[in-house]
Amino acid sequence: MGNDKPMRLVLIGQPGAGKGTQAAFIVERWGIPHVSTGDMLRDEMRKGSPLGEEARGFINQGFLVPDELIFGMLKERLTRPDTGRGFVLDGFPRSQGQAVALDEYLERTEQPLTAVIVLVINDDIIVQRLSNRRVCPECARTYHLINNPPRTADRCDEYKCRQTLVQRPDDKESAIRTRLQVFHSQTAPVIEYYRQQGLLHEVQANQEILRVQIEIERILEGRPATRR
Ligand code: AMP
Repeated sequence: MGNDKPMRLVLIGQPGAGKGTQAAFIVERWGIPHVSTGDMLRDEMRKGSPLGEEARGFINQGFLVPDELIFGMLKERLTRPDTGRGFVLDGFPRSQGQAVALDEYLERTEQPLTAVIVLVINDDIIVQRLSNRRVCPECARTYHLINNPPRTADRCDEYKCRQTLVQRPDDKESAIRTRLQVFHSQTAPVIEYYRQQGLLHEVQANQEILRVQIEIERILEGRPATRR
């Protein structure tokens, strides 16, 4: 995929697989916007909007927010001019129904997806990762207390915020378990859906962040895999 062609990507993986971190790399490397439905919903909750208030209970317990709340918000985001060269979707679609609705919308607007990347990792590692995850309440950048800590303890590295990092309520253990169950029952079928469309690329996510980045870069530049 050259730099001039639009890149319309979907990132799939359990919560904590590293979608946000890899999306940030893709944004920096190719200059396309990061569209995270989770970040958008947390933004709505912070603002206290009716949408945010309706979504809050579902999110904090680890359940999916009903489609009718999500889809309008997503479509509005995808019509903004910065998506002209593409986008990286993170956290959407999360069910087969959402995948079909997305396809219909993108077909209508003549913006078909160009690739789907699945971050493959097992659940035990996820639980360990999420319980150590901290997030900046200002810019949503994520850290891992052991593998990817901020330069100054508990503070966001970004000069523009420097906020005290927090733990998301849905990163508490009972919510993590619900989110993993939801992923396996509702989101896993989306992976097969895209496999059948020939769009799917699987990347082992239980390796250093840099190695995952290199693999994603190779895929998106259309280079063949080298043997290890
Ligand atoms: P995330 O930050 O992507 O893990 O999303 C956090 C939470 O927001 C999820 O556990 C869901 O409750 C909700 N959410 C985000 N994206 C979606 C979606 N596409 N469909 C339904 N709920 C979503």
